[in-house]
Amino acid sequence: MNYRVLGYEVDYLKGYIDKRVIEAEVDYLIGSVHFLDKWGFDNPEFIGGWKSRDIDNIWQEYFDAIEAMAKTNYFNIVGHLDLIKVFKYLPKKDIKSIAQNALKAIKKSNMVIELNSAGLRKPIKELYPSKDLLELAYELNIPITFSSDAHSVEQIGFGYNEAKKLAKEIGYKEAVFFENREKRLVEF
Ligand SMILES: [Zn+2]
Repeated sequence: MNYRVLGYEVDYLKGYIDKRVIEAEVDYLIGSVHFLDKWGFDNPEFIGGWKSRDIDNIWQEYFDAIEAMAKTNYFNIVGHLDLIKVFKYLPKKDIKSIAQNALKAIKKSNMVIELNSAGLRKPIKELYPSKDLLELAYELNIPITFSSDAHSVEQIGFGYNEAKKLAKEIGYKEAVFFENREKRLVEF
């Protein structure tokens, strides 16, 4: 295969949609949540934010933002679905119940989720999303795409074998890539 595809990862910030980005001529748009209000929760500089608030509430707020992002129907792919776990501040509540409305909205909007290996390089040291959430996505028939979220050339393809193994374990046989915002399936 010799495909050349172009995509953007776009921050979802409620009330700040830029049509130039949303209507860009790219093959896909990844919608990601990196901010809750103005708090960049995945940035080590602002890790103090985790100490002053209830972790269950932070998690719910995060997945509410993912749900709202899916409902805009602007994006093709959900970026690092459970990025909120990055520093290992984990909720007491069941994660599947926190995330289920977001996943239903993702299904309804026809989006796919990333199986993103960047988490392996972070304190949480696991793929985004966790096995539990990937199982839930599989039950809902939400397709996956592979992503190494590379921030340098060396990181391209990082963790692919681990990601592939988990996807197969759960039952996935095909992954998606996009051409001109249309899904194409590929077996792996
Ligand atoms: Zn991101």
